[in-house]
Amino acid sequence: MESNLFADSLSTIHGSLFFYLVVMFREKDIAIKCPHCGKEAVFRSAFVFLLKEQKEELERTHKYTGEFLEYENGYIHNKYPERFEYPRDKYNGMAICCECSYNKEHILDWSKDFYYEFSVDETRVWAYNRDQMVALYDYVASKHRDMNKYGHHYDFLYNIPRFMYTKKKREKVLKEMKRNFFSTQ
Ligand SMILES: [Zn+2]
Repeated sequence: MESNLFADSLSTIHGSLFFYLVVMFREKDIAIKCPHCGKEAVFRSAFVFLLKEQKEELERTHKYTGEFLEYENGYIHNKYPERFEYPRDKYNGMAICCECSYNKEHILDWSKDFYYEFSVDETRVWAYNRDQMVALYDYVASKHRDMNKYGHHYDFLYNIPRFMYTKKKREKVLKEMKRNFFSTQ
């Protein structure tokens, strides 16, 4: 059984389509395992959806490179038009690693690229970045699980497989997270 932490049911139903939409519309940078050294690197999607106001804001502040393509009620920002073409290369982006200076085109493989990923029993759990994993740890560890406290992590936490915070599994889940991502050494 495979379960995706942030969108258990949706991603199962829609598979990579759903994942793609999330990558494109919501999460711009994703923590991945560096293809070269295996440490934490960043995947920067080449394509990001922007509303008209967001595009105008970028233009005002001159904080962009690349080009905009009209798309439904907004734009797709192609950050690297010299490298990628929408929609042919829609899963592509750049993998950037500060540890080893790797900086190359990368096709995101969501079945194995995630850096913040661990397994509990048969279930695979993954998060986009450290920030999300910290929110998850805190949420699982807390006594009063109030998702409203977690702001923009709400959707992510809402879709956590329920077994993760049952009394029986909770300690095991926290231990796994600690061992993988929050060890002090
Ligand atoms: Zn690296």
